[in-house]
Amino acid sequence: MSDPIKQQFCKRQTLCESLAGNKIDYLTITSKQNIENLQKRKGVVITARAHPGESVGSWMMKGTLDFLCDPASQEAELLRQNFVFKVIPMLNPDGVINGNYRCSLAGCDLNRRWKAPSKVLHPEIYYTKQLVLITAKERELALFCDYHGHSRRKNIFMYGCNIQNAPEESRLFPFILSSISPFFIYNYSRFGN
Ligand SMILES: [Zn+2]
Repeated sequence: MSDPIKQQFCKRQTLCESLAGNKIDYLTITSKQNIENLQKRKGVVITARAHPGESVGSWMMKGTLDFLCDPASQEAELLRQNFVFKVIPMLNPDGVINGNYRCSLAGCDLNRRWKAPSKVLHPEIYYTKQLVLITAKERELALFCDYHGHSRRKNIFMYGCNIQNAPEESRLFPFILSSISPFFIYNYSRFGN
């Protein structure tokens, strides 16, 4: 983040270190314009590459960051003025460096550790969860999205929560996406527990 223009709305910090001591960094993206509404801005957390073999997740992340950090885009600036984005582009650097397809250095599938991550064995997930919880305490959390690549299915879709008393809450965003992008297929989406 050496670009002085992008530094106006994007800050890079280290969340934690992986088991092998690689830094896991996160970006905070929000506008300094219209700053008086900062407390009212909703939070969005986006992560990618929990599964190191799914390099398409990084491709989606590059598109996300190119868009959110475009100083010339009025659409992006409107989002920056209304949301605080916390973005972790690389959740599992150890897995990527060591050529794993699915696991971390501990031999764990990090995407199966969200319920009870260990601070010692799965710091990547433990501290990401802390970041999500802190963001949700600071402001209304509008979205938490973790980018993956499916081994067989094509196009873009979402696997989301099934919120029993308000099922539309997790379905609305993918439904809107499907109406504006021919690549997003709502019917491929699944909503579990
Ligand atoms: Zn995955």
